Amino acid sequence: MSTLQLPATASEVLQHYFGYTCFRPLQEEIISTVLANKDCLVLMPTGGGKSVCFQVPALLREGTALVISPLLSLMKDQVDALHANGIAAATWNSGTTPEDEFTIIQACRNGELRLLYISPERLQLLMNSFMQEVNWSLFAIDEAHCISNWGHDFRPEYTKLKGLKEYFPNVPVIALTATADVTTREDIVAQLQLRNAQRFIASFDRPNLSLEIRGDMRKEIQDEEILNFIRKRQKQSGIIYCSSRKKTEMLSLMLNRRGIHSEHYHAGMAYHDRVRVQENFLHDRTKVICATIAFGMGIDKSDVRFVIHYNLPRSLESYYQEIGRAGRDGLAAETLLYYHKSDFSLQRKYALESGQVELNLEKLEKLKQFVDSKKCRRQTLLAYFHESYTQNCGNCDQCRTEKRIQYSKVNEQAGEEYRNDGLMEHLRQVRLMLARQEKLPAYIIFHDSTLREMAALRPDQLCEMIQVSGMSGNKFRKYGHWFFLETAQWFRNQGYALPNETTLQTWLLLHEGMTAEQIAQQRGCSIGTIYQHAGALLGAEFPFEKSLFLSDENRQKIEKAVEQIGYTGKRKPLYDFLQSEVSYPEIAFYLETHDR
Ligand code: ADP
Ligand code: MG
Repeated sequence: MSTLQLPATASEVLQHYFGYTCFRPLQEEIISTVLANKDCLVLMPTGGGKSVCFQVPALLREGTALVISPLLSLMKDQVDALHANGIAAATWNSGTTPEDEFTIIQACRNGELRLLYISPERLQLLMNSFMQEVNWSLFAIDEAHCISNWGHDFRPEYTKLKGLKEYFPNVPVIALTATADVTTREDIVAQLQLRNAQRFIASFDRPNLSLEIRGDMRKEIQDEEILNFIRKRQKQSGIIYCSSRKKTEMLSLMLNRRGIHSEHYHAGMAYHDRVRVQENFLHDRTKVICATIAFGMGIDKSDVRFVIHYNLPRSLESYYQEIGRAGRDGLAAETLLYYHKSDFSLQRKYALESGQVELNLEKLEKLKQFVDSKKCRRQTLLAYFHESYTQNCGNCDQCRTEKRIQYSKVNEQAGEEYRNDGLMEHLRQVRLMLARQEKLPAYIIFHDSTLREMAALRPDQLCEMIQVSGMSGNKFRKYGHWFFLETAQWFRNQGYALPNETTLQTWLLLHEGMTAEQIAQQRGCSIGTIYQHAGALLGAEFPFEKSLFLSDENRQKIEKAVEQIGYTGKRKPLYDFLQSEVSYPEIAFYLETHDR
């Protein structure tokens, strides 16, 4: 598709705005359902790719999509990511100033905003005239389990959404959650009054997460193990979940004393401290966080490479949700759970004191069976979520075999056969520099998986950088050209022949659809120089639109001349014959393309 044409189908939108070549399971079906004006309920594990399910239809339908999201950090993260892809989106929450509110309202009325993220607190708006004035393309309810008393994150404000279908019967509603249990699921449908809602239930398997469990070891040995584990993963981000606030502080102190920079996080800390720690983590200033489960739902960081449970988690649901924060980018990530006999007695005590004794004791029993089991961990875990998984996963401590499964095809193939770690590190540095400049988390610029694919390109595949997964049109213009030029420089330093920097600059502008004249003007050089660049690019087999250098009309004129005077491969005879009807560089370009 040309860069100048607007994408018209779901696949084109995915490629153009997000830089992904194929949909993940169910995404396409969900998108068509929304586009057909039908309500749906989407169940997908954390990292499964729920956002795309409403973002793509939002870009295909007229009007503005209203997205309800429970946490400011989640909203900000998604809107930053949308902006990086060149999509008009905004957040509206308690921190929005009256001036910004005014701008947002205007933009919605004029249909200029594709997505508006709003916090449940702002939902009283539903009753306002504002709601009636806007052409809503769809309503997306993210983390929809928050509406249910049965869910684990009940948010009273979410119950205001009940009226949505009454006021706007014709706007499709898409409710999304990663909470699997059936009661919550049906409660969401009932409370939102969805009509004939189609239910989409994705597999909860996360093949890229390795699962490992270690029981009953002395605390000193466990600490030593964790230290060694992190030391071997210096550049990776990770979370260590602890069962108490005090423990998070102690563990972080211990790590810092032993030379690993880490911070703690729990709900007992002052608000601004919590925000600071979270920001440090998102921006890669702190790689390791020791936290209670308070550190969680707002963390959409896609390159968390490991999650360690210092103690037994509260249930298999919470375990799965917590480890789910690792490896959202689909690359391999590690999870490690430690448990102790004392954890069980403590949790038994809590269960007995809880309002739902029987339910909680049963959950604890399931957890015990899971850690004690000698079967493949993934089998047991998925069976708990009512999913049958019959093979051995090969990526847990019971299966033991080393196996890395990744979503991306290129990662699987090229990544393994042509691995350039030095280049990868260099690209990380480039990303960090851009991230600091823009005050954005590095993963918003590019995911690790995208950098990996870039670093895995061979020198002669440099121009394919435009096609790596995660390279949207906007990102290529904004950031991609840096990585492109830096990679070229890197290869040149290694002795590979590649067009020089100025030629590549020309290629980038050609890629944007600029003509030779426009490029010459913008770069302040002669048109002849740009034609020379074109020649070099032909030689290096960089693809570009040839008609930008030689119009069909002039090509025909030259061809006619060749018929008359015969082909010699020389410019002068043609130039003389055509009596300057066609320029010299054009003739030269013709000959170069002709000889290929
Ligand atoms: P969820 O909300 O389900 O936890 P997200 O919507 O945040 O998951 O998506 C997780 C990651 O997967 C994001 O980084 C997103 O860009 C990426 N992703 C989503 N869909 C695709 C796709 N079709 N191809 C490649 N990556 C995708
Ligand atoms: Mg999400």
